[in-house]
Amino acid sequence: MSRLAVFDFDRTIVDDDSDATIINKLREKKPPPEFDSSSHDWTPYMSDVFEHAFTSGFSQEDILAAIASMRPTAGVEQLISSLATAGWDVLVLTDANSVFVNHWIKIHNLQDAVTSVITNRAFWQNGRLYIEPCMRQSACARCPSNLCKSVALAQWCAQRPPYTSIVYSGDGRNDYCPATNLPPHAIVFPRRGYPLDDMIKKTLSTPTPQVAAKVVPWDDCHTIIRELFPEQSHIICPTK
Ligand SMILES: [Mg+2]
Ligand SMILES: [Zn+2]
Repeated sequence: MSRLAVFDFDRTIVDDDSDATIINKLREKKPPPEFDSSSHDWTPYMSDVFEHAFTSGFSQEDILAAIASMRPTAGVEQLISSLATAGWDVLVLTDANSVFVNHWIKIHNLQDAVTSVITNRAFWQNGRLYIEPCMRQSACARCPSNLCKSVALAQWCAQRPPYTSIVYSGDGRNDYCPATNLPPHAIVFPRRGYPLDDMIKKTLSTPTPQVAAKVVPWDDCHTIIRELFPEQSHIICPTK
């Protein structure tokens, strides 16, 4: 019996946004390039940001220290560890990048609990950080070319034995597309008050809702723990 728990990273596993954390860090020294809001391509912009970081004298250590300092959302480490212990596959699916996500996961001792990370590929070369798109897709018109999380999830599931349970936790606009493709027996956990929560509420109020999965909004991950591990949640979070 295989089960899959999918997590977004920014504002879901971490309480912050990793790209914004680095951009704000750069701002302390020299204004970084502005994002052209008419563009849908975030990855080339982050490539410019990394070039700016390099020419402004930010070292690999500076950038990784800023990433490591991002706070986890309340309960997320317990949640991911409990899922792994119970034999779930834990997939981190994010439009951040592999350097940020893998570093944060390692610093927070979750690398053994996380089965895989699907994201834009980043790498260091001569002290500068480079980023490449996770994919180049045109199958989904509502997602950017570098990542449709539905496409990524379908590719992941195609390589694995069929899952009996799928749960999905996220906060952002790009988590809506995969939420609409979850089967009725799946659970989607939108972070309360964030765009995914608003978009799901909106579709559920229409005569033909696009989301079939059970919806459980959360403010902290103890809500998700109680939903998935009702028999042990009093042990994991005694204050709740
Ligand atoms: Mg997010
Ligand atoms: Zn999509």
